[in-house]
Amino acid sequence: MKEDIIYNLKQVHQRIEDACRLSNRKSSDVQLLLATKTVSAEKIRIAIEAGETLIGENKMQELRDKESGLKDLNIERHFIGHLQTNKVKDVLKYASCIQSLDRLSLAEELDKQLLKENRSINVFIQINTSFEESKFGLAPTEVISFIKKIKKHKTLKIKGLMTIGLLDVEKEKMRPSLQLLREIRDQIYDAQIEDVTNLKLSMGMSQDLELAIAEGSNIVRVGTSIFGNRFLGKEIWNENIAE
Ligand SMILES: *Cc1c(COP(=O)(O)O)cnc(C)c1O
Repeated sequence: MKEDIIYNLKQVHQRIEDACRLSNRKSSDVQLLLATKTVSAEKIRIAIEAGETLIGENKMQELRDKESGLKDLNIERHFIGHLQTNKVKDVLKYASCIQSLDRLSLAEELDKQLLKENRSINVFIQINTSFEESKFGLAPTEVISFIKKIKKHKTLKIKGLMTIGLLDVEKEKMRPSLQLLREIRDQIYDAQIEDVTNLKLSMGMSQDLELAIAEGSNIVRVGTSIFGNRFLGKEIWNENIAE
């Protein structure tokens, strides 16, 4: 198990490097986030001890359950799953970044809790760039007005945009949803919203990380290629499965 994870990590880093080289990008511009849903603390530890620093969880329950098994390690935890408003307070105990900010009510709830705690948090805005009903995220056309609305919450530091691309066996079918995230970022820059600069793109997973890097990704979120299949026996990309 240990050898497999270490071997897989090397492979994934190699894929990232190769993709960066192909698109003339520096590999330091692309961070690897370990998507650790359903992965045990023990396995996560192997990857961290091999040099990884960033993990992403989809569920509050898993964040909490793995906390004790990982607390001696120096890791940055992002929340990458659908976040229910009633879980905000708990998630804020563990995560330093919410990558799945997808609606005003969530922004308001985060702000309310953060004001109480007198602190701020990094956020990525999740956008549904594949137009699939099974996915959460703002519609591309709503993004600019959304940013203008949440900007008043000084507790939310807008760090970037996140999407789950369309997965398909055909490579070229996957590209448009990744390309669109980059285009949305350009539109945001064109709109010149004060203090909204340097937005990172979080996109690319086991299947599409090369394409995502070619389209400008700064964070690839990889699970399966490192930890193996999750065997959930259900459509993993149906984000609507209740927590
Ligand atoms: C599971 C997950 C990933 C990783 O997907 P893999 O195909 O296992 O690499 C990335 N992003 C999100 C939001 C996820 O839930």
